[in-house]
Amino acid sequence: MALVSVAQLDRAFPCGGKDWRFEPSRRHKMLLNFNSSIETLAKVGPIFSKRLCGLGIETIKDLLWYFPQRYEDFSQITPIKQAKLNEKACFCGTISQFTTKKTFKRGLFLTEALLQDKTACLRVVWFNQPYLAQTLKEKDLVCLAGKVAMDKGGIFLQSPSYEKVFEEENLTHTGRIIPIYPETKGISSRYLRYLVKQALKAALPSIQETLPENILKQQALLPLSKALTEIHFPSSFATLEMAKERFGFEEIFLIQLAVLKQKLKVQKQKAPSVPFKVELVKDLVAKLPFKLTDAQRKCSFQILKDLERKRPMSRLLEGDVGSGKTVVAVIAMLSCCKAGFQAALMAPTEILAQQHFNEVSKLLQPFKIKIALLTGKKDKIISQKIGYQTREGFKPETMEISRIKLLEKTKLGEINVLIGTHSLIQEKVKFNTSEKNGLALVVIDEQHRFGIKQRQKLVTGKSNKLLPHFLSMTATPIPRTLALTLYGNLDLSLLDEMPKGRKRITTEIVAPKERQRVYAFIKKEIKQGNQVFVICPRIELPEENEGNLSAKKSSWAEVKAVEEEYDKLSKVFFKSFKVEMLHGKMKPKEKEKIMLDFKRGKFDILVSTSVVEVGVDIPGATAMLIESAERFGLAQLHQFRGRIGRNKKEAFCFLFTESNSQKTKQRLKAILKAKNGFELAEYDLQIRGPGGLTSVKQWGLPDLAMLALKNLKLVEKTREQAKETLTNSPNLVQYPILREAVARFEKIAHLE
Ligand code: ADP
Ligand code: MG
Repeated sequence: MALVSVAQLDRAFPCGGKDWRFEPSRRHKMLLNFNSSIETLAKVGPIFSKRLCGLGIETIKDLLWYFPQRYEDFSQITPIKQAKLNEKACFCGTISQFTTKKTFKRGLFLTEALLQDKTACLRVVWFNQPYLAQTLKEKDLVCLAGKVAMDKGGIFLQSPSYEKVFEEENLTHTGRIIPIYPETKGISSRYLRYLVKQALKAALPSIQETLPENILKQQALLPLSKALTEIHFPSSFATLEMAKERFGFEEIFLIQLAVLKQKLKVQKQKAPSVPFKVELVKDLVAKLPFKLTDAQRKCSFQILKDLERKRPMSRLLEGDVGSGKTVVAVIAMLSCCKAGFQAALMAPTEILAQQHFNEVSKLLQPFKIKIALLTGKKDKIISQKIGYQTREGFKPETMEISRIKLLEKTKLGEINVLIGTHSLIQEKVKFNTSEKNGLALVVIDEQHRFGIKQRQKLVTGKSNKLLPHFLSMTATPIPRTLALTLYGNLDLSLLDEMPKGRKRITTEIVAPKERQRVYAFIKKEIKQGNQVFVICPRIELPEENEGNLSAKKSSWAEVKAVEEEYDKLSKVFFKSFKVEMLHGKMKPKEKEKIMLDFKRGKFDILVSTSVVEVGVDIPGATAMLIESAERFGLAQLHQFRGRIGRNKKEAFCFLFTESNSQKTKQRLKAILKAKNGFELAEYDLQIRGPGGLTSVKQWGLPDLAMLALKNLKLVEKTREQAKETLTNSPNLVQYPILREAVARFEKIAHLE
């Protein structure tokens, strides 16, 4: 442990006698383990126990994993003579001449004393700690750590941390690198240090190492007990870094194990093999109304190759809005259908399902494919639309059949492609169960939470033991480190190229004084028959309110922001135009109606929170205004922006910001230059960290793991190590402790 060295002490203060640093404490005879209640520690009564509980600390383990937020370096003992104004330092000497008085103006207690070492004397002042004069006694040998300040009476040490120096005790609050814990009412860092120190002493002897010996060696990581000691009471900043690395590595490594284990499990299953018929693909491609981009060809090839195998594909197709993911899915689905199988396409909302149905029907028009759209909820029998390829050609006028009929046809295999929302994974939807004609492919748009269980559910036929191939499509750019961890069970296909002829959206960062000019411009756009999005800012509540409560509050605050903006725009600035609003608190039906009306051009301006449906095509929208743009991630801004410019007209995006910070402006400027969303996502990750991403939040990772997710090298190391570990012991039978730790993530991993 980091301590004041004897040499330092001797230099600062003549202490003499034996070396007290290495004397073990005799106070903690009892043996605690990680699961012991926090109340087994000294000075934890009911009141503090409750307060600690509020911090999520109930057991010794919780306490030991409550890591410091930052550290102060008081490891050097400064001779008083060398005290410098405005510098933080640690002094060691005898304390005397206590006086405590009450100040006139504010009624604060002021405790003064004098600290003396071999070299000089220093005045010490504490505010509002009247009990100090009882804690510290005249002539006590103490270490004081704090800032040197100045007043009328000259320099003095301002409210320092204090600590008596005992022969047999290591220093805790001074004379070392001291941990500072996240501030909370009623729980001071000083108190936590006191508890952590007890807990370390009592629990470390019985500590169970989570990482196998060989991995610790191979990766040169600190053992758990050492890492825990160092993270709380570092002996140097170098060892502190090593402790951080150990915890970061461990956390990411566990995720890797969970995710890779799942991947292996899927790979062991059998899937229907869909032959790669080159002629068929060529035929489809020739009949498309456009030429495929190279990226689309590459991704389609990867997918068709996967489908050919007898192992289930698990693939993520990632590409900016408008990069043409649908057609790639269509190529895969056609291949399945022509080989006699079924395919399913799932969209997050009904409006998107409808959009997919239209697009897929159009692209597959020349082929004899039966495509159906399943919408609606629960048992209600509602009319279902079905698109048929008939002898007379494609009939866009779809036929309506009842839900029961549609389910029947799906089960019989008479429907080739079934498109829908979440309703597709309802119990009642059954695909054909024969091995030759069953469901071969599930495509999911804009949502990756789809585990093996759900996949299996789609094919719970008796005879059919085959797992369908799985393709997830997303416009959310995923940084590489996340792709390798949280999405590590999926193979990746990137559409990193936009179809030719797409115009760049003219993007401008707008200062407050330019607002009127932009509004005037918008009016001109609308008069030319164009439509406009206005995105209201994301509301961030103070951190202390984190959790469900604040999520609720912040979404209500967002509603309020939308309503205010709507009022302003519809009653003042754009009085003569038609304005509508959209927010997350509206019913799904209401939202859909508004999106549809907007799509059909029934109004000019849509004021919305960030809930604007992903991927909904509003061909008439040419401009977007984003309020307080600095509150969004760059990748998210980029995604918003992708919702305009879906036609031949020029499109404009205005990023309003009231921030004067150079850093913020610099960050926003990146969006003017970036070539694609991937670049922006990497940039976001480095600057804002992964904490804000919903896909990351779900995992509930500690800060050190978040930090580790920024570090590609470390992530790659964990992945290699996880692969090796699972090769040696596929079910981690050899590593029971590890296995238990991994279980924590397995639930989450299965969702993916
Ligand atoms: P997203 O990746 O956002 O889902 P879509 O698949 O909806 O994109 O495609 C966006 C639009 O681009 C569609 O109208 C589609 O027909 C068109 N498109 C797709 N690929 C190409 C291409 N290679 N060239 C031109 N247009 C294309
Ligand atoms: Mg799409």
